[in-house]
Order: sequence, then C-alpha cells, then structure tokens
Amino acid sequence: MKAARFYDRNDIRIEDIPAPKVAPGEVLVKVAWCGICGTDLHEYLDGPIFCPQHGHPHPISGEDSPVTMGHEFSGVVKELGEGVTDLEVGDHVVVEPYIIDDAVDVGPDSKTYHLSKNMNFIGLAGRGGGLSEVVSVKRRWVHKISKNIPLDEAALIEPLTVGVHAVERAGEIHEGDYALVTGAGPIGLLTSAVLKAKGAKVIISELSPLRRQKALDSGVADYTFSPAETDVLAEIQKLTNDRGVDIAFECTSVQPALDLILDAIKPTGKVVVVSIWGKPASLDVQKLVLKEIDLRGTIAYVNNHPESIALVESGKLDLKPFITGKIALEDLIDKGFDTLINHNETAVKILVTTDPELLAQ
Ligand SMILES: [Zn+2]
Repeated sequence: MKAARFYDRNDIRIEDIPAPKVAPGEVLVKVAWCGICGTDLHEYLDGPIFCPQHGHPHPISGEDSPVTMGHEFSGVVKELGEGVTDLEVGDHVVVEPYIIDDAVDVGPDSKTYHLSKNMNFIGLAGRGGGLSEVVSVKRRWVHKISKNIPLDEAALIEPLTVGVHAVERAGEIHEGDYALVTGAGPIGLLTSAVLKAKGAKVIISELSPLRRQKALDSGVADYTFSPAETDVLAEIQKLTNDRGVDIAFECTSVQPALDLILDAIKPTGKVVVVSIWGKPASLDVQKLVLKEIDLRGTIAYVNNHPESIALVESGKLDLKPFITGKIALEDLIDKGFDTLINHNETAVKILVTTDPELLAQ
C-alpha cells in the first residue's frame, strides 16, 4: 500500500509498503481522509520531535523511523480482529490516535491517561498512520460515528477534540459567557467552534485579516479584533461593561497574547493555555494574584471523543468551513505541506486521501 513515511527532518517519502494485518483485539480501518496537522509540519521542519529517531525505537511502540505519518483521520472498518464483536465491517469510524503503555488505565473514567509516561501518537511514533491506505488500530482507540457525518468532515474530529478538552479545562460554560480566544489558526478556530456550540460569546484577537474573516464567515466568532490596529482590551471592556471576559484560551504561543489575556480576564476568570510554547514566557504574577485568576494548561484529549462526536452529530457545530483543500497522497509535500508552510493564512485544514474516487467526488 501507499504510505507517507517520516525518515528525518525534510525527508518524508511516499512509498509502497506492506499493508498491515489485523491482530486480535484490533480493527483494520480503510482510511478515507487524513488531515495535515501543525505537528506534522514541525516534524518536517524541526523534527524529529514526536517521531522516534532512526536507531532509537519508541519505548512503547518499539518502532523507529521511518514511521508512517498522519494522526487526524476518518475511515471505514474493513476487517475485525479476533475478539472484536461490537463493531461491524462497513462502520464509519474515527481514531483517537494514542500510543499508551498497556499498564495505564485507559477506561472511560480515566482523566489522566493522556499524561502517562512515554505517551505518543499513532501516525507519529509508530503503529501506522492515516497518511496511508489502511491502518490497524486497537479497538479501544476506534470510535464509531454516524454515517450522517461526511467522512471528510469526520477527519476534523481529532483536532476538534483538542478544542473540546481545552473547553472542558475551563469548567462549566454558561450561556452568554464571554470567551476570549487569542489566535485563529486551526486550533483557535475549532476551540471557538466548541465555545459557540456551548452558548458562549466568542471574541477573537488575531493579526491576520484572512483568518479573522474565516472566523466570522464560519460563524465561530461574534467579534474579531486585530491587536495591530485596535486596542483590543478597550473593546473587550466596552463589550463586557468593564467586567472582563469570563474565560480565555491562549492559542498563539506569543507573549503579547498572554499579556492581553491577563488584562482582559475578569477577576476569578479561568485562563486555559492551549498553544505549545517552545520557550519560557513571562507572566505578571501580581495580576494572577490580585484577580485570583485560574491559569490552566491543556494537552490533547482524554475521553473527550464521545462528546466531540456528539457535538458534530447534533449539528450544533459545522466542520465544513475549515476544510480548505483536498489532495492526493502523492501531492502531500508539494500541495499540502508547502501550502501550509508558505500560505498558512488562507489554509486551515488540508485533507489527504489515497482513494481517487473520494478525490473525484
Ligand atoms: Zn494534530
């Protein structure tokens, strides 16, 4: 089968490799669509980060590079491994792409398995990936979805679930709560979509006019401001009668965004840092103290897929506006990575498939 494999920085190859066989307890999934994630771009430009270096196998998967890439994917069940009785061939599914030690409790009540030692992802650290034709996944990480969700939109359920967990980290959301989101990249937009679906009023601060427009056109923001052109804090004070926003989500990893949030958050407000920070930030701790701000981190997701699938199935949230391109696997680097690296203001999610029939639709 065809697969995109990470060898090293600037070295991802489309190759023919043997298709996986389904093992007991696993589900063989024929991939429909796979999204390209910022994490994939980081591996390509600055990696290996999550991908295990050649000669250094990942402690859980036991695999080293080359590894098949792609962790944001949807597909159709092709074959069931021995002992899997609660799914059927032909079911539509998405994958929660975890590689987690067998000793860790990954049951429905766990709120910590995503923080376990050596946690990594299918499509980054081994066990196949969505940038290929088929992938065999442990039953635990396969989530059935309604056939009413188009499979292209379903490929966005994985990044959407990052937003669902981020919003969960902020605690209860009340109808009409003001939420500030800094940054309208894919995760900022999808976090905003979850906030809107839960009844919050969403304010986005974002430099790029094209991204601001996308936030408005897709309906996930009530207000967007450019911090380069507008006193965003003054606008927020006007909107909230000087109270400040109830919750805030940092999705840029730039210092001025964090500074804005500490000023714009109301006393006792909750701040969730969603972005990945490559270097230490500075924090005006006195603001944290005097306003009794709750500052929280969030990473990936933990038992959040059922909620995000239900949100999409309910129709409260539309993923279609975030699909900005569809390409064949052969064009992954030229049309996919290149567009996202060099034209990232217009591209949100580019979806990849190996199936010419899907591409023709
Ligand atoms: Zn991702």
